[in-house]
Amino acid sequence: MSDAFDIADELGPEKVFYLHDPGTQLRAIVVIDNVAAGPAIGGTRMAPDVSLEECARLARSMTLKNAAAGLPHGGAKAVIFADPHQPTADKERLMRAYAYAIREITDYIPGPDMGTNEIAMAWVHDMTGRSVGLPRELGGIPLDEIGATGYGLAAAVEAAQSHGDFRLQGARIAIQGFGAVGMHAARYLAQRGALLVAASDSAGTLVRAEGLDVEALIDWKRGGHPVAEFTGGEARKRDAIIDVECDVWIPAARPDVIHEGNVDRLRAGIVAEGANIPVTEAAERRLAERGVLVLPDFIVNAGGVICAAVEYHGGSQNEALRRIEEKIRHNLDEVLRRAKAEGTMPRTAAHDMARERVCTAMRFRRRW
Ligand code: NAD
Repeated sequence: MSDAFDIADELGPEKVFYLHDPGTQLRAIVVIDNVAAGPAIGGTRMAPDVSLEECARLARSMTLKNAAAGLPHGGAKAVIFADPHQPTADKERLMRAYAYAIREITDYIPGPDMGTNEIAMAWVHDMTGRSVGLPRELGGIPLDEIGATGYGLAAAVEAAQSHGDFRLQGARIAIQGFGAVGMHAARYLAQRGALLVAASDSAGTLVRAEGLDVEALIDWKRGGHPVAEFTGGEARKRDAIIDVECDVWIPAARPDVIHEGNVDRLRAGIVAEGANIPVTEAAERRLAERGVLVLPDFIVNAGGVICAAVEYHGGSQNEALRRIEEKIRHNLDEVLRRAKAEGTMPRTAAHDMARERVCTAMRFRRRW
């Protein structure tokens, strides 16, 4: 592991904790990147192999995402080095040991991440009184059940209408990754007048130019079936989703799915990034050259973290949806206006906006 100071710059990380408890075999790191805007929200991941640098990068992206979303929270990330698939009783013991170890790190509010879930957050909450992404019984707002991120994506695509000649009514949508984010994005976009012309999962693509029956497809997928086996469309290979002609292409599966080798296959006017960093930097530049409008991930997929912040402050599910719509629309408008005025890519404008917000918040803090 590298020295913690190797990864520091003017924003952070502010604190790095190494947690070790030989009794329970707990080995974890917590990186609190920046708390100028307020206590840091960020996931606690359980994985055997995440480096300090990667944890710090993930913490920084939470600082920028939370600032871009206009939340009164900084960014952090934690990793517990362990097998996420261990027996539940062992996992509970480890999560409780972790929670005990972070009980006095009060400027960190943990949330679920890869390898942890709402039950793990309930254990952390029981030990510390502090976590988000809780079960409903503890005041949680189940963000994947209500589709917080998909709802935000739909609001963002609608807001993009003010920045070009795109119209959502009748717009053809293609979604790569028909999971929690993808299926809710499809549902909320269909409710706003769009047509789902293609969807994919890890097993294949389903296409229907006249529009798929979104609710029936969601029921089918929730029943455990691959989308390509749904009878209301034509089945194709998994990556055929990239070639589908559409108005809005939504990656909602994995990072780096669009790269220099396949970017010119995309035939869409707008790419709305549901997944995190689904398009490589070079491919995003190529899309900009071709006049394709890319709505950056950390602006338009912030529905989940906005929902978590509303939960933390005691808000309701309806309040969460209202805030997601309001914040994502407002932030996307600002980013796209700025990108146009400065002649930059939306991602650059979004980064600049988020960094400025963090720096402004830092100037409000007492430093000695
Ligand atoms: P999920 O596991 O519920 O769904 C992912 C879907 O993608 C699955 O249907 C899977 O079959 C499919 N998939 C995997 N590889 C694929 C491939 N190569 N081609 C096509 N489909 C593929 O996950 P999710 O919660 O919907 O998250 C999707 C992405 O969005 C992840 O990268 C996640 O980090 C990111 N994200 C999620 C949220 C959230 O609120 N859940 C918020 C922000 C970002």
